[in-house]
Amino acid sequence: MDERLRSAAEVAIGFMPRDEGLALYEAALTAPDGPLLEIGSYCGKSAIYLGAAARERGTVLYSIDHHRGSEEHQPGEEYHDPALVGPDGRVDTFPVFRRTIEEAGLVEVVVPIVASSPLVARGWATPLAFVFVDGGHSQAAADADFESWAPHVVNGGTLAIHDVFEDPAEGGRPPYVIYRRAIDSGEFAEVSRTGSLRVLERTGVG
Ligand code: SAH
Ligand code: MG
Repeated sequence: MDERLRSAAEVAIGFMPRDEGLALYEAALTAPDGPLLEIGSYCGKSAIYLGAAARERGTVLYSIDHHRGSEEHQPGEEYHDPALVGPDGRVDTFPVFRRTIEEAGLVEVVVPIVASSPLVARGWATPLAFVFVDGGHSQAAADADFESWAPHVVNGGTLAIHDVFEDPAEGGRPPYVIYRRAIDSGEFAEVSRTGSLRVLERTGVG
């Protein structure tokens, strides 16, 4: 991965350990032709890893987030960051996301979509080479992301899911549940795992 982008990703605020970010980048490099899409931009950390791959491949990354934070980012919750509160007292990660992408030089590669994932999906019709699910971790949010976006992954394309924990003691269930749904559907097969990242490929059967 481009050295400059790698350092930018490492210092960016967010929830993407380096080994998982690099695995994400590698997976995006080897996906079929076509655009990439992620749900869960936050402050742009994963978008730099995926944007690096998109740039090398001459494609774009659609990065979806309403930028109001998930449950765990709200004031008083475990992952709240007071630096990410706007003048109106609400969580707003878009200014930091935008600056991060600008400073990384990825403005011509990353397309920010500031809206909730199911709303964006409502009119979506573009086949996707690569989808990364890293949005809300409630069961309803994870199910909606899976149902909204998995159907748009082309044959041979990638569905990557973050925060998948086999052991409930290690973390919340919803990402694991949708990972199982993907595998059990018979339409996706696991190709690699790094930390809590699972990389699946659409096999076209099922
Ligand atoms: N990928 C990021 C981390 C994402 S954190 C990184 O590399 O650091 C999860 C993000 O999902 C939060 O920013 C939150 O605002 C967003 N999110 C949660 N539910 C969402 C929904 N329904 N639609 C769009 N974004 C959502
Ligand atoms: Mg995550």
